[in-house]
Parts: sequence; C-alpha cells; structure tokens
Amino acid sequence: MLENGFFFAGISRRSFLKTVTAATAMMGLDFTMTAQVAEAAESDSRPPVIWLHFQECTGCSESLIRASHPDVATLILDMISLDYHETLMAGSGHQAEEALHKTMEEYAGKYILIVEGAVPLKDNGIYCKVAGKTAKDSLEEVAEHAAHIISIGTCASFGGVAAADPNPTQAVPASDVLKDRAVINIPGCPPSPYNLLSTILNLLTFNRLPELDKMNRPMFAYGRKIHEHCERRPHFDAGRFAEKFGDENHSEGYCLYKLGCKGPATFANCMTLKFNDVNVWPISVGHPCIGCTEPDLAFHMSIFDKVQIHNPTPPDHYPDTLDNGEKKGADPVTTAVIGGVAGAALGASAMVAKKLPNNLEDADKRNKELEDEE
Ligand code: SF4
Repeated sequence: MLENGFFFAGISRRSFLKTVTAATAMMGLDFTMTAQVAEAAESDSRPPVIWLHFQECTGCSESLIRASHPDVATLILDMISLDYHETLMAGSGHQAEEALHKTMEEYAGKYILIVEGAVPLKDNGIYCKVAGKTAKDSLEEVAEHAAHIISIGTCASFGGVAAADPNPTQAVPASDVLKDRAVINIPGCPPSPYNLLSTILNLLTFNRLPELDKMNRPMFAYGRKIHEHCERRPHFDAGRFAEKFGDENHSEGYCLYKLGCKGPATFANCMTLKFNDVNVWPISVGHPCIGCTEPDLAFHMSIFDKVQIHNPTPPDHYPDTLDNGEKKGADPVTTAVIGGVAGAALGASAMVAKKLPNNLEDADKRNKELEDEE
C-alpha cells in the first residue's frame, strides 16, 4: 500500500497523515489514537463496498470525487474496494450486475452498503428501477448480508428533496425500508466527504458503529448546532441582523437569522469543516443555513421562515448598532429574545468581544460586562 514509504494512494505521506489526523480529531479521539487509525487506513484488507443510487441528484458522489483537494476522496476510494457504484464503475449492463452479485456472494456479511438517494414506495416502487428491480427490492436484497449500512446525503437519510411535499412518489429514507437494521445516517446536501471518511475509518479501526444521535447520525459530526460556532454569532448576540439580501447589514456580514437561517436548529459541523478546502461555507458567503442535515427543515420549511428558538432568557437590552445611535436592523424584542438565548446558554460573549467592530464601543462594553457576569 505504501509506495517507497512516502506515498499512500497517490498522496504524500505527509498529506496522508494530515488527513488521518484531522479525521481522528473529528471522531473525537485522542491524538494518541492517530497511529491506530492510520494503521487501519493502510490495512490491506479493504472492505468491499456496494454503493446504490436511488432518487437523488448524485451530488453526494459528485462532491466526493470532485473535491478541490483530492486527498480525502483519494483516501476513501483507496481504503475501500468500491465494487459496485452505478455512476463510477466502468462496467455496465449485465457486467455491472455480475459485479454486484459476485460481491454479495463472495463477501456476504463483510461488505459495506452505502445508499445514496431516497426510495419510492408508491405504486409498488415503480418510480425508481435499476436492472428491472425496484429500489426497495434492491435495497432489501443488498442490505440482507451487509456488515454495515450507511445512508449518504439527506435523501437517503431523511427523504430529502424527493420526499418534499407533496412527495408524489412516496419517497422514504433507507431506514424506513430497513427497519430491523442499524443504518448510519450521514445527512447533508451534500455532506462533507470528511464525515464519510471518518465514519469508514471508525468502522475499520474499531469494527463497530460510532456513537450515534437519535437520528442515527455520528455524534462526532452532528453533535453540535451550526449556531454554536458560527462566525456570525457575535452579531447575533449583539442584535445585528441582515434584514434583506443585499442590504447594508448583509454587506456588513451581520447575522442571517432574519433571512431564515436555520443554524440555531441544525446539527452539523459545516462551520468547522467548511467546504472545498478554501475555507468557505454557505453562511460565510452570505447565504443562510437551510438546515439540510435535519429531517424537517430543508425541503420541508420555507427558506425564509425563521426557526423557533426555545427557552429565551434575554438580558435587559442590547446597545445601539450605529454610531449615530439609530438601531440598524435590531428589533428590540426579537433581538432580546433570540440574542439572549444564545449568549446566556452558550457563553459566547468572549467571541463577541473579540470580533466586534471598533466603532461599537458601547456594544463592546456591554458584552464585556456580560462576560464578567458569567
Ligand atoms: Fe450564524 Fe445563522 Fe446563528 Fe446567525 S442565526 S449566528 S448566521 S447560524
């Protein structure tokens, strides 16, 4: 697997270790575990993977293989033996079917099944067929002898866009079909390739499922809300909101809550992982989070509707947000309610103080006061 001791899967040893170290940290493991994780990644016993496509846009596969920084994709594709993938495999027709059945027979109980896309149930599932079989039948057949099952993307995890109202094909997630199996959900539209990498590394290293939340998402990737570490959080806490796309507040980089940002109700790690290895993500470029990792937000709730923020404990007031004292987009009631929640519950005042613009001395002072009170 290691060529000349310096390269793994066509990437340098340094990049390999860097990627594995990042994945180890992502899994919430101690850094001393990096060697064990690297050993599992380098192992010659590559688990066979059958990757099924159902109702989806192939965006999850696309985002994986077209990563601007190739190490993660390369590593994943070299750690596993991708025996069947309807988009990527060279074979087609009967040849492809043979590859599928050969893997299922030779590696019964050992292969990993990755599902991309939702499964239509209406009219006996006729709205998605491959090789004459409905998605439901294929899924049940391949899942029967799979060692582990991973749903990649929001469609496979929760139904996604295919299940959006009025859900004309009665699309459901893979877990609704495989009710008696543990299905690991890696939602996202698309999900970060790092989340798939870390999940596979976890299976390879420990041969067991990672800790999952109640939606069957790995806790290491979906254990925190976007809002908890959002770079616009200081503006939220100080009551500075964009009111319309393109307005002055939007240009200033203020909080996107009033534009419908679902960050306060969305569990994901986009805010720390970012996308495309160029350190951006939707919120950083001015688009509200659409809540694509949640079952009931993206594709089910209007992009502009605001999510509820619970248990508010607002402070008395928030300071003015302009030099001249005019409040700039800060609705006192809303601001007090939503700003207070986060500040009190999550103790973000330190971040607020650090990131406040220079002309907001009053706000700065108030936030320092809040910090001291905590
Ligand atoms: Fe960030 Fe959205 Fe929370 Fe504002 S509401 S701080 S933009 S996650």
